[in-house]
Amino acid sequence: MRYDNYIGGVWKKPAGGEYTPNRNPHDPEEILGHFAASTAEDVREAVSSAKKAFPSWKKLSFPERAAYLKKAAEIIRGKAGQIARDLTREEGKTLVEASGETLRAVSILEFFASEAFQPVGEVIPSVSEQTFLFTKREPLGAVGLITPWNFPIAIPVWKMAPALLYGNTVVIKPAELTPMSVYHVIDAFHKAGIPKGVVNCVFGTGSVVGSEIVQNSEIKAISFTGSNLVGRSIQERAAMQGKKVQLELGGKNPLIVLDDADLDKAVEIAISGAFRSTGQKCTATSRIMVDAKVYKAFRDRLVKKTKMLKVGNPLKPDTFMGPCASRGQCDQVLEMIEAGKKEADLLVGGEIPPKPELVRGFYVQPSIFENVPRDARIAREEIFGPVISLFQVNGYDEAIELANDTFFGLSASICTNNLTLARRFVDEIEAGMVHINSETAGAEPQAPFGGGKGSGNGSREQGKAAAEFYTQLKTVYMDP
Ligand code: NAP
Repeated sequence: MRYDNYIGGVWKKPAGGEYTPNRNPHDPEEILGHFAASTAEDVREAVSSAKKAFPSWKKLSFPERAAYLKKAAEIIRGKAGQIARDLTREEGKTLVEASGETLRAVSILEFFASEAFQPVGEVIPSVSEQTFLFTKREPLGAVGLITPWNFPIAIPVWKMAPALLYGNTVVIKPAELTPMSVYHVIDAFHKAGIPKGVVNCVFGTGSVVGSEIVQNSEIKAISFTGSNLVGRSIQERAAMQGKKVQLELGGKNPLIVLDDADLDKAVEIAISGAFRSTGQKCTATSRIMVDAKVYKAFRDRLVKKTKMLKVGNPLKPDTFMGPCASRGQCDQVLEMIEAGKKEADLLVGGEIPPKPELVRGFYVQPSIFENVPRDARIAREEIFGPVISLFQVNGYDEAIELANDTFFGLSASICTNNLTLARRFVDEIEAGMVHINSETAGAEPQAPFGGGKGSGNGSREQGKAAAEFYTQLKTVYMDP
């Protein structure tokens, strides 16, 4: 089946008439559908439709706009089973995880719909008795949303929901690898009766569709989630036009295991944080610092459990880990593993799983290295795959110093029952999201999400933080 762009409230063929196949990473011979390979002309049409729809969308009340979010949430919930299966088939995460992500998209829509009744400005005391001084928040206009493949439904929805609630119109470009999940979201908004032009979706590549969204002067803000390289170049290009830019980039997230930690729980936290979604999460655990007093016990349990993980067809209910999302992604992970073999000692994994039924898919084994030098590539570069680097440390001070020795600053975790050290960790770790006795991965719709250092540009997504990005503030002095 062919899937067209959604522009001005209708499904439209791409200007060049070209389509790209969407493949299943478990079995690349299986094609889910063919998606529009759009041109800059398609983007310009989508932007002009978003611009045209903005004045009347902006005039609707918050509850009126929220009603469309609620309706889209209901529609997605109603077909969550089918959407989750498609998500697994196009991205490769297990069906359990895909179902969780689909329902998360529903809760994000519901959360932002409920925000319609929250205050969006402040009353400020004035020096003059007769002046009513207050702030109000106003939408920006047509905004561009550029999303990655690793959370193909949750990330697009956590950008779309606040953008729309606060009165903006949107042009979204999903990752070329995972257009099907976004198709379901757009279809839900279409069936919810969202006014024409408020939501527009253009399928295609970053270099053509993404670039045109970034450089189009009618786009007032860009929210981007993806790699550091692309994010920084978008920031540079958008800054020339004075556009607002929100960047959510990569991570190299540490987990510290202190000598008083519950080791069984710490092993579960490490495995889930590092290997769920095949390690393809910006918040995945990739470096683990373990106190020397418990290093051997922790390492042996971690290796034993890792050997027992079931890798295979993500649609099967007992599978723990599916394939990488693409051949390119798989090759990059294998290349980093080969680099790791030269720099450190491989404890487990390190290969393509030797199962005949998996050779067609993009599989790698969950892998763990020890004796990793701190300047090794596997210790410093984001791998975006199921690979852990283990470090033996003497106490909290050495652990926190090593944890902070990274370009990134997205998420971090500590396993300990020592409240004093847990408090110090909260204060001293250089990360946007901090976990105590839980894994580095995970995000709730009502809580701000994002990182510092090389992981972002200071802007936060989700929760009340979203209003900051998707609106501009007006300060009003009102005198009789
Ligand atoms: P990516 O290559 O940067 O792509 C992200 C999006 O940008 C895709 O839609 C891509 O299009 C598009 N794009 C590529 N080149 C572009 C250009 N020149 N101009 C405009 N858009 C362009 O990243 P990815 O490989 O999809 O995702 C993996 C990365 O995302 C990892 O580094 C990961 O850590 C990060 N990530 C961060 C978060 C977070 O919240 N911090 C969450 C998830 C992922 P195509 O579809 O054509 O590639």
